[in-house]
Amino acid sequence: MNIRVRYAPSPTGNQHIGGVRTALINYLFAKSMGGTFILRLEDTDRTRYSDGYVKNLYDTFHWLGFYWDEGPDIGGPVAPYVQSERLPLYRQYAEQLIAMDKAYYCFCDEERLGQLRKAQDEQKSGEQGYDRHCRNLSRDEVTRNLGEGKPYVIRLKIPLEGTTTFADLLLGDVEWKNADISPDPVLLKSDGFPTYHLANVVDDHLMNITHVMRAQEWIPSAPLHRIMYDAFGWEQPLLCHLPMVLGQDGHKLSKRHGATAVNEFRKAGYLPEALINYIAQLGCSFEDGRDLFTIDEMIELFKVEKLNKAPAVFDYQKLEWFNGQYIRQKSDAELAQLVKPFLVDAGIREGEDSAADALDLQAMPLVKERLKVLSDAAAMMAYLYRKPAMPAAAEFIPKKRDQQTALQMLRECLAVAMEDLDFSNLETMEEAFKRHAEQIGAKLGDLLMPLRVAITGARVSPPLFESMRILGQQETIERIKDSIAYLS
Ligand code: GLU
Ligand code: ZN
Repeated sequence: MNIRVRYAPSPTGNQHIGGVRTALINYLFAKSMGGTFILRLEDTDRTRYSDGYVKNLYDTFHWLGFYWDEGPDIGGPVAPYVQSERLPLYRQYAEQLIAMDKAYYCFCDEERLGQLRKAQDEQKSGEQGYDRHCRNLSRDEVTRNLGEGKPYVIRLKIPLEGTTTFADLLLGDVEWKNADISPDPVLLKSDGFPTYHLANVVDDHLMNITHVMRAQEWIPSAPLHRIMYDAFGWEQPLLCHLPMVLGQDGHKLSKRHGATAVNEFRKAGYLPEALINYIAQLGCSFEDGRDLFTIDEMIELFKVEKLNKAPAVFDYQKLEWFNGQYIRQKSDAELAQLVKPFLVDAGIREGEDSAADALDLQAMPLVKERLKVLSDAAAMMAYLYRKPAMPAAAEFIPKKRDQQTALQMLRECLAVAMEDLDFSNLETMEEAFKRHAEQIGAKLGDLLMPLRVAITGARVSPPLFESMRILGQQETIERIKDSIAYLS
């Protein structure tokens, strides 16, 4: 069988973790089976549509770096891949269902439907949704209404009794009471646009989709779609509803838990490799004793049987760990390139500046081990570009010592720095400070703590001697003097 799967987002919001997870699982499944991965834009909800969301979709996937084999931007054998460009098709199929008596015209106006909703709310009787008023209109009545040009929608006839069963790869056979399916959902709206249900079923069929892998929130649509497939006499693709993605508190992952949109992670300085690697493991295991996989390795290892039924919990810290791992795999040159836009954004350096490029490259070994996200680099590296703001005096004071000692230690450091200290040789630098600490009978830690604060502005910082080497003798001396003046 030639496997064909699709990612079918509605451009009604920015791409988020859940969407990317769906796309990724579809992609891995297709590629692992030698199949085809398709992008289809389900843009039939015109009230929530925005061009910006479509742009965000393309930007996101270009950044993530995995692609579809067929889609709106690259075409393919069953184009167009944008639902708003396929409108005549949907009307044709909706009318076909009417001809087969599987669907009907409904002329109820907003006023009537509003009253119905109100009455249902007041009664709290359990009866919800459309009351099937137009399901039994006489043929004459329908013809007359159409002749008068009355606006209408087309609704699907859900059988009043019995059950509908659909097959799910993960959940097995799922049986629904027809009475629990939304009463006669709209297929074609009065503006001529299809609803999700009609367009989704028609397109999955016409695009020869073999497997539908999507979030579990779509389960209630599945029996309804099944009824449509049966009405048309089409085979329903095999369904596979993916486990939910929850926040740590067990509720569906949402903005309340933190970032969910991919561009937020991108802005914070996550690497696409890390996101892909982590997201693919939400509800799916690759089980070979490792955590880190390239996308090609995941294709190699992917198996439908390794999908979980149980929900996955999104762990921000775990993702951060993944990101750190991928940062450390970068060469200094690669990492400097990646970090640069974040430094520019923070106003630490200009974009076009070869001296700054060289400085960044030198600084990478200092920060590579410490970065969790690329944006950390701004705060971590600012002191290499300009003198840090003076911290509170207490920051300079070594443990169990006083300000006098801190001042004294800085004067000692100044002496060492002004002697002919070789700023290009880390080992002899360290030696010089050790020797000096011994000479004056001070602990090395007491000597270096105030120095670290003077040079970097903080007690915890990238390595001190490397920093001093990058800054050079003159700048080092200036910073020590400034701190001495400040503490005096
Ligand atoms: N357009 C739907 C969505 O936004 C597609 C659901 C499905 O895959 O059937 O997720
Ligand atoms: Zn009606």
